[in-house]
Amino acid sequence: MKIFTTKQDLKSCLSEFKTKNKAIGFVPTMGALHEGHLSLIKKAKEKNDIVVVSIFVNPTQFDNVEDLKKYPKTIENDIKLLESVSCDVLFSPSVEEIYSENIASEKFDFDGLEHQMEGKFRDGHFDGVGTIVKTLFEIVEPNKAYFGQKDFQQLQIIKKMVKKNRLPVKIKGCPIFREKDGLAMSSRNVRLSNEQREIAPFIFKTLKEVRKKFGITNISEINKWVENQFKKQPLLELEYFTIAEEKTLETAETKESNKKYRAFLAVFAGKIRLIDNIRLRN
Ligand code: AMP
Repeated sequence: MKIFTTKQDLKSCLSEFKTKNKAIGFVPTMGALHEGHLSLIKKAKEKNDIVVVSIFVNPTQFDNVEDLKKYPKTIENDIKLLESVSCDVLFSPSVEEIYSENIASEKFDFDGLEHQMEGKFRDGHFDGVGTIVKTLFEIVEPNKAYFGQKDFQQLQIIKKMVKKNRLPVKIKGCPIFREKDGLAMSSRNVRLSNEQREIAPFIFKTLKEVRKKFGITNISEINKWVENQFKKQPLLELEYFTIAEEKTLETAETKESNKKYRAFLAVFAGKIRLIDNIRLRN
């Protein structure tokens, strides 16, 4: 695997592949890689000639200084994992390489997607995400880019950005990878205490119950039920739970048969924030 830390070195390597018309698949990450990330990379390997992975903990998408400071960094292990799935190129730039002196976000209009859910609780988060993904797309110029449905709102926002700006890249959404007990894999999971880790599968268990109830109960009853479930769980504090339409991400109060819905939530285990979501069947 080739490893680059500067835009220029990466670009000159990739230009060789581009002149040979090789398809480039791209997987942007913040490192501390796990099987969820690897599933995206494997998908990219299947469908492209060359796979580029970036590892960059993007400061402008963090609304919480402590979360940024404590974000796990495991670059040596990440390199081993990337080699184990035959990743071709790793781009791991410094903050200065990406932002120079000006560590700030561009302002984006994602047609309202940015004001829902995570947007209500993480100020400026999606401007940060838009900024880094657009920058990385400009550097890598991939044919296809792979994102996890774990961050479903982010996935929809990136699709919107690509469509609005007519960027020449196809966005591929990939399923959520979970631990055996159902907890969605996340780089932040390593920060959970043993006690928190033990209780964390409760999140997905609750979402699975929601999926069952969605066919038979109305949405406001489900909302109340979820809130009550978390009230009984002292180690997990519910920040939000919402059933939203997949396309607009607007909170749904009633079901319409021609629309697709998902249940989304964010939960604090102590200071560690976990998100998850599940597709619902009408
Ligand atoms: P991150 O390193 O957390 O920024 O994630 C990089 C990419 O991996 C994003 O597209 C995430 O949605 C995706 N991802 C993270 N966790 C998972 C998971 N458990 N299953 C599938 N994709 C994931």
